Amino acid sequence: MVLLENVSKTFRVGRNEVRAIQNINLHVRQGEFLVVRGPSGSGKSTLLLTIGGMMRPTTGRVTVNNQEISAMNELERAQFRAKNIGFVFQMFHLIPYLNVLENVLLASGFERNAESRERARELLKNLGLSHREFHKPAELSAGEKQRTAIARALMNRPSILLADEPTGNLDPENAEEVIRHLHEFQREGGTVIVVTHGHSADQYANQIVSLRGGEIVENPS
Ligand code: ADP
Ligand code: MG
Repeated sequence: MVLLENVSKTFRVGRNEVRAIQNINLHVRQGEFLVVRGPSGSGKSTLLLTIGGMMRPTTGRVTVNNQEISAMNELERAQFRAKNIGFVFQMFHLIPYLNVLENVLLASGFERNAESRERARELLKNLGLSHREFHKPAELSAGEKQRTAIARALMNRPSILLADEPTGNLDPENAEEVIRHLHEFQREGGTVIVVTHGHSADQYANQIVSLRGGEIVENPS
């Protein structure tokens, strides 16, 4: 579960203050699928990073899986993240000099035991990437790169998957496939929070929220 109570995040840039998100109240139950929309600069990435504990809110409370992550220090948040949360990004963020299998194993801290390796290979099989295990990211299509990133995000069996415009660099067919994999994770009990501009995720969404100027708006135009 994810609960945000009056969450705001303000950045100080020189003398200026940028209110990236303001007064956000949100409740996502375990197993739900939340779609986040909004124009560029409306606070979508800040919202996801705050939920994922990469960032501390300026004010308000963030509770994930009944733990108040907004009260944790950086090390506690990092440990919490590694156990509970998977991230998928628009730009994939794969390590270029590691192959696909190694990129996925990276999530488990390169545990070189047979069990981790089996898990990584099973994930890659489910994502249709068995034939790419020993390829480097540069040798993959964009869709294959994003599916590798999904395998990496799932490696540690997170309960929550956060995806920030995961289809932003994909053609419609690959975009749909990525959304289907997010839904597959949800069907197995996972919570999905995805920032996306397309509409292919709407059919799975329990909630759709739109951000404008850092705030949730009810009836976006
Ligand atoms: P979105 O993902 O919807 O494009 P962001 O969450 O990235 O929006 O940004 C929201 C606002 O906060 C923007 O005005 C952006 O410039 C500002 N912002 C985001 N991150 C930082 C940062 N680290 N320092 C200063 N301003 C930031
Ligand atoms: Mg963004």
